[in-house]
Amino acid sequence: MPEFQTSPGMRDILPPESARWRAFVAAFEQVVERAGYGQVISPLLEDLGVFQRIGDATEVVSKEMYDFVDKGGRHVALRPELTASVCRAFAQHHPQTPWKVWYHGSQFRYEKPQRGRYRQFDQVGIEVLGADDPYLDVEIIALGWEFFATLGLTQVRLVLNSLGEPADRAAYVAALADYFRDHSGELSEESRETLQRNPLRVLDSKRAADAALVADAPRIDQFYSDRAAAHFAAVQQGLSALGIPFAVEAKLVRGLDYYRHTTFEYQGLTLDSAQNALGGGGRYDGLVESLGGPATPGVGFAIGLDRTLLACDDEGVFAPPTPRLAVFVVDTTGGAEALAIATLCRSAGISADRAYDNRSMKSQMKAADRSGADYAVIVGSNEIAAGVVVVRPLRAARPTDADGGAGGGIGGGTDDGAQYEVPREQLIETLKRAMS
Ligand code: AMP
Repeated sequence: MPEFQTSPGMRDILPPESARWRAFVAAFEQVVERAGYGQVISPLLEDLGVFQRIGDATEVVSKEMYDFVDKGGRHVALRPELTASVCRAFAQHHPQTPWKVWYHGSQFRYEKPQRGRYRQFDQVGIEVLGADDPYLDVEIIALGWEFFATLGLTQVRLVLNSLGEPADRAAYVAALADYFRDHSGELSEESRETLQRNPLRVLDSKRAADAALVADAPRIDQFYSDRAAAHFAAVQQGLSALGIPFAVEAKLVRGLDYYRHTTFEYQGLTLDSAQNALGGGGRYDGLVESLGGPATPGVGFAIGLDRTLLACDDEGVFAPPTPRLAVFVVDTTGGAEALAIATLCRSAGISADRAYDNRSMKSQMKAADRSGADYAVIVGSNEIAAGVVVVRPLRAARPTDADGGAGGGIGGGTDDGAQYEVPREQLIETLKRAMS
């Protein structure tokens, strides 16, 4: 084993999987740009304080951050998510509202690595700052839904809740804390600890010991103000009008503390229940203000790329795109011709690869086959002398070309009659005609 490997929870994404990642982001971009979202690209690293505003009771912040003091003595952190960065950017640049942005990038959380849970993972997401409209919540949820459909996923469930207005949420958290405290003897030890930090998160407990208590816990919907109830009703009505199925789950609280009103999660039904959230989001009306900006409503979601691709594998959809190569150049004269011809093809917009290290004709032809190219362009000393090249279709049908007869000598004994000679200066034109 080599001395160095990727760190735990971090992975190399190699071709062709990397092409699938790009296609994933491109598909997302298409869905959201059609809806008026522009891309924001923000730094991987922010002042630690930016993330601390998410709330110290959030595990992502309190336990999982990659933070360090840089050479200038600044306490910084690798971003564990992008919503806080987007809000920081909004407060810094004060763009026109509604500010509709999308993003893609890596996030870092010091978690226990397992399938679908990594320490570096990618997300795509959208955020809108400066609008309160419940139909905006619907737009956002619907765009995520549409994106999953674009990938071909069908085993996705939308779960919805509202955490009410800040005062509703605060009253609820207090009631919940009282309730769990009254029964703390029946709680698992882990949940007793969670209770100290964040009573809402006890609802997330998947431990059997907590199940009965959690089931009987007070429900957030008993605490909604009229305004919160109206907002939530409008969101549900809007989703129904678009024909998007959802389940209301009063115990869906999500990990991040900044949520108000609408929260939602897209769950992958093929995944393990502990890691089945493909994405999620909600409203976070207080976050910009807590980062020093004006009071600004916000709503958005993030979808995990790594985990969503696992769901795609499970459903057998959204396979890596097959790379297409038009030309593979075989040069038996040392390689300078291959360099020239490949360069010529590439500048003409025709994809071209070649063999290296002056290998035998046979080995180069094998490489040409393996490359998946449509044509081999073959050149030897006879061809150079005659000012021609040999074009051999490897997969494509023979082009309807009148110029050359069946191939010259270079094909050796393997001439199957499909290959033909082309004057060197007509190569590009011939290939273009053949490919059209
Ligand atoms: P969050 O930012 O926690 O709301 O997460 C949004 C989405 O990001 C999740 O639904 C996952 O798909 C993905 N995600 C979060 N944490 C991880 C992780 N450690 N590894 C892989 N994906 C993650």
